[in-house]
Amino acid sequence: LGSEFTSTFYRAMTLMVAASPCAVIISTPAAVLSAIASGGRQGVLFKGGEHVEAAANIDAVAFDKTGTLTQGDTQLTDVFVRETAADSLTDEGLLSLATAVQARSEHHLARATVAAAEERSLDVPDARRFQSVAGKGVCADVEASTIHIGNRSYFETVLGDAAVKGLEPGLDRLQTLEAEGKTSVIVAREDGGDVTVLGWLAFTDTVRPGAAEMIGELRELGVEHIVMLTGDNERVAQRIADEVGIDEVQAELLPEEKVATIEDLVDRHENVAMVGDGVNDAPALATATLGIAMGGAGTDVALDTADVVLMGDDLSKIPYVLGLGRATRRTLIVNLAIAFGAIALMVGTILLRGIPLPLAVVGHEGSTVLVSLNGLRLLGFRG
Ligand code: ADP
Ligand code: MG
Repeated sequence: LGSEFTSTFYRAMTLMVAASPCAVIISTPAAVLSAIASGGRQGVLFKGGEHVEAAANIDAVAFDKTGTLTQGDTQLTDVFVRETAADSLTDEGLLSLATAVQARSEHHLARATVAAAEERSLDVPDARRFQSVAGKGVCADVEASTIHIGNRSYFETVLGDAAVKGLEPGLDRLQTLEAEGKTSVIVAREDGGDVTVLGWLAFTDTVRPGAAEMIGELRELGVEHIVMLTGDNERVAQRIADEVGIDEVQAELLPEEKVATIEDLVDRHENVAMVGDGVNDAPALATATLGIAMGGAGTDVALDTADVVLMGDDLSKIPYVLGLGRATRRTLIVNLAIAFGAIALMVGTILLRGIPLPLAVVGHEGSTVLVSLNGLRLLGFRG
């Protein structure tokens, strides 16, 4: 436009240095990689930067009960034989029949049963034709009959059309035990088509220390809704929910129902985190916006499907994860403001009156260093 070449060329060079977006580009990785490294030091494994960003927006959190809110060290607490059950069946007799079947199962109630029998050094008969119904119960042939072990739904829906002797009092007793916060199952024997309730087994599991504080911290972080999802009974679940301060309980869920509940939560709250440990939690972990698995207690499938793994099973790391996400987002906003701000300021000045090239270099490199340092501050994030 008729301007003198040397000064115009100099100004164009200055503009290109000032406007090149190094600081903008480095803003995000500087913050996100620092956040991932900081998580690593705290025993929190993020499987990617996008999960740090997802953690910033979580509005609702769903927890599995067994193994997540509780320690998963289920213990058999009581063995009850139904008075009119049979010919001199003792507590130990009932336990050894149940153990014969449960020796074939991987379930935590099964492991607790087997452990209790081992502790009492019981003789356990062999079992054949083991079958399990997910979320309901198990059965197998022991000696000359079939032993069934399960919850209300097992006896009502699986054994549906067989008239079970003693089922009414059996279910009443189950309800009383559950009201005490004990996860309980009915043991029954099937002989030539007749099913008779033999007794009950009751179990407890301890709530992880710090669970209630963790829920409180989530609320302070602005999480609107906290839900428990469990395959266990409603009464037992409600007791634990009350103890730790959870809003909503969804009990007696099958794995696919856990997924449906998460989908429903996503509809209502948009960004939902799911925390779980079991095989039956894996589909729900995959469906949630952010899947968090308990690394120590967790099964391989859960660890594989999750986006974040808590290496030490430390529940207090859940508020840490959400807090880190939020801190990372704040850092990103500040970084982008610094980066775009520096560019806008320099470009504006260059267009209006020009600045010396060395100053543009200092401004360009300076803002890049500044956003990197600001990102690195996240390395010190402690929650
Ligand atoms: P959770 O992990 O919360 O116990 P599950 O879906 O694994 O959830 O089991 C739900 C319920 O199904 C148990 O609480 C129990 O009543 C019954 N159940 C499942 N497997 C067994 C088993 N091996 N023995 C007895 N009951 C079982
Ligand atoms: Mg579990």
